[in-house]
Amino acid sequence: MPPNPTKASVSGILRLRCPACWTGAMFSGPLRMNPRCPHCDYQFDRGNGYFIGAMYSSYLLSLGLAAAVAGALFWAGWSVWPIVGACAVAVSLAGPLAIFPYSRVLWVWAERDGWLHDGQEDVATLRQRHLQRARGPGRPPESN
Ligand SMILES: [Zn+2]
Repeated sequence: MPPNPTKASVSGILRLRCPACWTGAMFSGPLRMNPRCPHCDYQFDRGNGYFIGAMYSSYLLSLGLAAAVAGALFWAGWSVWPIVGACAVAVSLAGPLAIFPYSRVLWVWAERDGWLHDGQEDVATLRQRHLQRARGPGRPPESN
């Protein structure tokens, strides 16, 4: 565990990193997601329909972006319809570049860190198991 797990999690989400090891990249290109973590082999995609839930985070990110653009333009004195058009353009441009990867990363992190579970899953144990697998076979786990 890093010294400040909250800071490491925020940094990991912003850098689009694996929620299990905070190191492996979740995306290998702008629209190309790795099926597994290249560092610890954590499986990002859990099967058909798994990322349907990412639509919730995508919706929230789009709404936040549109609200920020609308607020800024309203403050700058724009009228309603140009603001609506600018919001549509901003969300359309940001969609594939930022909203898509961050919605998936947020979904995987939320699912991984137990925000969507009933708390029975021991996240620390799972994280330790993934890190041991990343170290490779034949080496005993670190005791600390
Ligand atoms: Zn990983």
